[in-house]
Amino acid sequence: MNQHDDEQWALETLAIRAGHERTHEQEHGEPIFPTSSFVYDSAAEAAAKFSGDEPGNVYSRFTNPTVRTFEKRLAAMEGGERCVATSSGMSAILSTALALLSAGDEIVASRSLFGSTVSLFDKYLGKFGITTRYVELSDLAAWEAAITPATRLLFAETPSNPLSEVVDIAALAEIAHRHDALLAIDNCFLTPALQKPLALGADLVIHSATKYLDGQGRAIGGAVVGRNAELEELFGVVRTCGPCMSPFNAWIFTKGLETLNLRMRAHCDNAQALAEWLDQHDAVARVYYSGLPSHPQHLLAGRQQQGYGAVLGFEVKGGREAAWSVIDATRLLSITGNLGDVKTTITHPATTTHGRLSDEQKASAGINEGLIRVAVGLESLNDIRGDLARGLDALR
Ligand SMILES: *Cc1c(COP(=O)(O)O)cnc(C)c1O
Repeated sequence: MNQHDDEQWALETLAIRAGHERTHEQEHGEPIFPTSSFVYDSAAEAAAKFSGDEPGNVYSRFTNPTVRTFEKRLAAMEGGERCVATSSGMSAILSTALALLSAGDEIVASRSLFGSTVSLFDKYLGKFGITTRYVELSDLAAWEAAITPATRLLFAETPSNPLSEVVDIAALAEIAHRHDALLAIDNCFLTPALQKPLALGADLVIHSATKYLDGQGRAIGGAVVGRNAELEELFGVVRTCGPCMSPFNAWIFTKGLETLNLRMRAHCDNAQALAEWLDQHDAVARVYYSGLPSHPQHLLAGRQQQGYGAVLGFEVKGGREAAWSVIDATRLLSITGNLGDVKTTITHPATTTHGRLSDEQKASAGINEGLIRVAVGLESLNDIRGDLARGLDALR
C-alpha cells in the first residue's frame, strides 16, 4: 500500500496492508528492528536528528520502525490521525492522564471499569491531586451531573465487563464537548473491527493490545489513538517517561491485526450462540449479553457496534457454591481472569476480578455471587457448550 495513496481502503484491507514502509531489502512481510539506537553518516546529521530539525529515528524509547508500523496500522483502522503505542494497556491510560491532566483536574468515569484502571485513578492519580467521580455507565444524566468546571476527561469502557452494559458514545461525546472536556473510550472489548469510537465523536481511543489485538495471549502492550494535538503530548510522555512498546511485541500485535476482523466475527458468532443456549438453560437465572433482544441496550448496541463482542456474564441459581461447581466441572475452559484470547476463559468475578470491591460496591456494580463470566474463544462451539453443560446440568 503506497503511503501517499488516498484511496479509502476498507478496514479489512488496512488491517493487512497499512503502516509498513518497505525497506531497501524489498521484504514482503513486516520486519522486526530489534535495535535500541540508530546511527548517522555525520555529526551534522546526528545533530539534525537529535534536534528534530530532520525527521528520523534516534532511540527506540522515542521511535522504532516496527513500533511505527503497528501504530500506523492501528491508527488507520480506528480512523485516527495518530497512534502512540505503550508497554501495556495500563501505561496507555497512565500516559493519557500524564499528558492531558494536571493537579486539581477531575475525571468522570463509568463505575464498571477494569479494576486496575480504578486503582490507577484513585490511588495513584489521587496522590497528585486528580480526583475521579464514578457514574452509572449508561445513565447520561448522571454523567452530566457529575461534571464540574474542573472536569477535563470523561472515561468509559463500553460494553462493560462483565455485564455488557452500553453507553451511547455519540451522546456522551456531545456532553463532554459542551463542558470543554475530552472523551476517552477504552475500546479493548470490541476493537476497531466492531466499534469505531472516534467516528462517533470520542476524542481518544485506548487499547490493551494484550487482549484481542494480539488475540492469542502472547504479549502485553497498549495504545492510544486520536488527533495529532493530544497525541503529540502523549508521545512526549512516552518518550520521556519510558513506557514504550518493544519492537518484538509491536511485531506480534501488527501480525495480530491482520486477522482481527476474522477473529472478532468468529468470537461474536460463538458468543451469540452460547448466550442464546444459556438463556434457555433451566439452571441459569439470567444472561448478560447485548446480543440478546432482552438486553436493555440491545438496540443501542446494534446501532453503534458492528457486533456484540465475546464477553458474557450469566447468573446461576444457587449463589457462589453453584457458580464454583459449574467452573470446577469444566475440563476445557481456562479458569483465569484473562480475556481476548482464542482460548475460552471462565471466571467468578465476585471472588477474582472484582474480589477487592466491598459488598456494597459489588451490589451497586451488579456483581453477585452466582455470576460467572465467560470470554468466548474460538474452540468448537459444541465443545465449549458441552464443557459448561456438565456443571449446569448437575444443578438442575
Ligand atoms: C486488560 C485491560 C486493561 C489493561 O491492559 P494491560 O495490557 O493488562 O495493562 C485495560 N482495560 C481493559 C478493558 C482491559 O481489559
